Amino acid sequence: MPCKLWPEINKEEYKGVWVYLEHDGAKLKDVALELLGKARDLAAKRGKAPVGGVLVAGTDEMAQEAIYHGADKVVVIVNPELKVYTPYEYANAIAKVVAKYKPEIFLIGATKRGRELAAFIANTLTTGITADCTALEIDPKTGDLMQIRPTFGGTQMATIKTPHRRPQMASVRPGVFPKPPRDVNRKGEIIHEAVEINGRRTTFLGAERRIERDIADLPPVESSDVVVAGGRGLGSAEGFKLLVELAKLLNGTVAASLMAVRAGWAPHTRQVGQTGKTIRPRLYIAVGISGAVQHMMGIQESKYIVAINSDPNAPIVQNSDYAIVGDYKQIVPLLIEEIKRAKGLS
Ligand SMILES: Cc1cc2nc3c(=O)[nH]c(=O)nc-3n(C[C@H](O)[C@H](O)[C@H](O)COP(=O)(O)OP(=O)(O)OC[C@H]3O[C@@H](n4cnc5c(N)ncnc54)[C@H](O)[C@@H]3O)c2cc1C
Repeated sequence: MPCKLWPEINKEEYKGVWVYLEHDGAKLKDVALELLGKARDLAAKRGKAPVGGVLVAGTDEMAQEAIYHGADKVVVIVNPELKVYTPYEYANAIAKVVAKYKPEIFLIGATKRGRELAAFIANTLTTGITADCTALEIDPKTGDLMQIRPTFGGTQMATIKTPHRRPQMASVRPGVFPKPPRDVNRKGEIIHEAVEINGRRTTFLGAERRIERDIADLPPVESSDVVVAGGRGLGSAEGFKLLVELAKLLNGTVAASLMAVRAGWAPHTRQVGQTGKTIRPRLYIAVGISGAVQHMMGIQESKYIVAINSDPNAPIVQNSDYAIVGDYKQIVPLLIEEIKRAKGLS
């Protein structure tokens, strides 16, 4: 039954199958193209209805790509305030465009961002949303969208319909539908809409890449000849930034002690020691690590161990080939500078 609190709609006013065209700043995400292919299928079953796309903070090249992959019309939302993604503001702008163009069906990729937006948009448009559909069909009798997805822990398939509301909304995970062929002869319309946002709720102050991402991009500890490891002595995740820089200069990677992993400064996959990984690199540099037996068990086969520690009596200092005693915040930048100079990088 339709919700009595929601305004009545005239279903006849809604036409076409539209897709949210998510992108990564450089190009459209594959899921957006996959959905355009599905949209064309569904549109054909709705009497050659048009296929549309909504693009936020995207370029005309992206809009053109959407046309090559099946869109007849792409609305590019132009508003400098939407340069950085924030869920409320994006959803607000998309919902306005959808409300204006009135597609009968609106599809969203079930990405992290898509999932967040879908609920916001459906609520703003006072319609339903079926998340994570694995198939979409048109009911031959009613013309309604059959939103098919697994249910009861995947033991059954549910077919969900939105017979009283429009647009009918569904999200679909990446890779569920095939990407349609790219046809550069396809023609379509690109419309620029300067959409205003009602009452901004989020203010973007700045972005910082998390150190875990930088660490994750480095080679695995087991297969690296040079390993720079950080411990509790680093004092914070920030300290790992210096270690990443040093490791990159040495074509190596970054590891961590149990305590650094427990502090959440490095992922568990980077832990070396008794309950972590056992490694045998050519060079192991232990920064702010005391050298407890359980740690040493994972690194004792290293060819050279270098300790950087403020405590001359730390076990690692006794068990290393070379030790630099002092604050790592002073020593590591000096090492970086020296290596850069030796490599002709500064
Ligand atoms: C069953 C068991 C399994 C374990 N498995 C592992 C394992 O797999 N891997 C592992 O690492 N540990 C393991 N441990 C834990 C281990 O016993 C130690 O507690 C741990 O290794 C200590 O981590 P840390 O050296 O980072 O910290 P801490 O022992 O706290 O040492 C920090 C060091 O940083 C130095 N320091 C402080 N400030 C600075 C500065 N500004 N500049 C330079 N140096 C500084 C200090 O002098 C100190 O030596 C295990 C323990 C048990 C009981």
